[in-house]
Amino acid sequence: MDNIILEADGAYRGKDGGVASYGYLVKKNTETVREDYNILLDERVTNNYAEYMAVIKGLKWIKDSDLEFGKIIVRSDSQLVVKQVNGEWSVNSDNLKDLHKEVKELIRYFEEKNKSVEIEHVGRENNVEADELSQQALEDHLLAKKLKGEDKKMCPECGEEMVVREGEYGKFWGCTGYPDCDHTEKYEED
Ligand SMILES: [Zn+2]
Repeated sequence: MDNIILEADGAYRGKDGGVASYGYLVKKNTETVREDYNILLDERVTNNYAEYMAVIKGLKWIKDSDLEFGKIIVRSDSQLVVKQVNGEWSVNSDNLKDLHKEVKELIRYFEEKNKSVEIEHVGRENNVEADELSQQALEDHLLAKKLKGEDKKMCPECGEEMVVREGEYGKFWGCTGYPDCDHTEKYEED
């Protein structure tokens, strides 16, 4: 029977308060039967968290689908996820223990139905589509935030908006409440 391939990737951007996302594709006979991506709203987000969630979201979708297959091959460019799921590396982070357990439970679910699940490490260059999906989720999220004006920087002193100004010594964040408020902050280029 045909194998199905799950290509999973997570993305994480530390700035902007820390945003993570997942992306995955499910392929059968080289045909993509499912692709999904979204932002992960959780205070525990890290890059590894996102990588785990991509695998979990994909396996859950397969579990709920009526796809016929013999074996699932999971491809991830996260060495940590692959080695931990294969039992080669221990899971030390409390954050990841629950996620690791969830992946193992999903694998056990398939195995009880006589379907095997293999997880293998691939280079980033072989995980481009899943990477693009997870990046797309971040872009969409950050764009939506921008349109809603949630990315505005507010002055902690007076609550007015902060803007980038050009001064004698270069750029800095200045308060639009100036001159009533003279609060400034260091500006860092992206
Ligand atoms: Zn101010």
